Amino acid sequence: MAFWKRYGGSLVMLAVFGSIAVGFWLAMDNLFYLLNFGYIGGSIALGLALYANRYPHARRVVQLLVGLYMLVYLGIFCQENMQIEGFWYYLFSGVFEAATIHYVVAKIAGPLLFGRGWCGYACWTAMVLDLLPYKRPAAPRKNWGFVRYIVFALSLLFVGALFVLRIADKETILFRSFLVGNALYYAVGIGLAVALGDNRAFCKYICPVTVFLKPASRYALLRVRVDGERCISCGMCKKVCPMDVDVTDNSRDRLNGTECILCMECVEHCPVKAIKL
Ligand code: SF4
Ligand code: SF4
Ligand code: SF4
Repeated sequence: MAFWKRYGGSLVMLAVFGSIAVGFWLAMDNLFYLLNFGYIGGSIALGLALYANRYPHARRVVQLLVGLYMLVYLGIFCQENMQIEGFWYYLFSGVFEAATIHYVVAKIAGPLLFGRGWCGYACWTAMVLDLLPYKRPAAPRKNWGFVRYIVFALSLLFVGALFVLRIADKETILFRSFLVGNALYYAVGIGLAVALGDNRAFCKYICPVTVFLKPASRYALLRVRVDGERCISCGMCKKVCPMDVDVTDNSRDRLNGTECILCMECVEHCPVKAIKL
């Protein structure tokens, strides 16, 4: 029983990602999917096991294992554009693989199960932003969320134009846009974090991927909940939340509810242990 309590989350993750890995391997007849989803699921399971054993940097370990794998191995060595432009490219090409599968699993359907776990544990942009010292937002959230829709539309227009204008060698352009896009994301993300005193400012205002992530994460199975009987209304959970979530409201309509990245900061800092996943 104690073993299940401690390692149940890891085993569930292994089962979920194992099923996805085997399912895509057999369906696509491609060993890559077995290795890819096996590696990602194994990294998340390891992180959960470390967390269960009170290792304080468990989330960072998963972020680095998955983020570096996707950025360096998939993005740079394999030249798979996993940015949003890559998703549009494969979608318009009618190819259901690589970026399209990644988006469906991690960012479109997956959030129904694990919310924005992608943002807390796997994103290679946040992997770098979370190294910065502004872990708690220095000021109230700004009303700049509309910018993400502009960036989203621009990414769609950019890839759409490659097809409409019948530009040759789109693969090379996509790879270059992956390199330039990531450099820009890091530059803007770090600049905003320093200017606003908030590591996650880029996630809150600029990132176009949130347009996919937010709708399904509203209905996520995995979400933090507060035991109202225990809560002493100290406000600590809201103070430490990097995404400005109103943790004490358990409803699906809670303020910034679709922003939760499951980082567990609120759970760790609640003085009466009133918050649970
Ligand atoms: S909001 Fe965007 S940049 Fe931030 S963690 Fe999520 S996917 Fe990454
Ligand atoms: S930190 Fe815990 S006790 Fe304090 S307001 Fe949040 S849930 Fe309640
Ligand atoms: S502190 Fe709590 S509510 Fe805020 S993002 Fe992390 S897990 Fe979600």
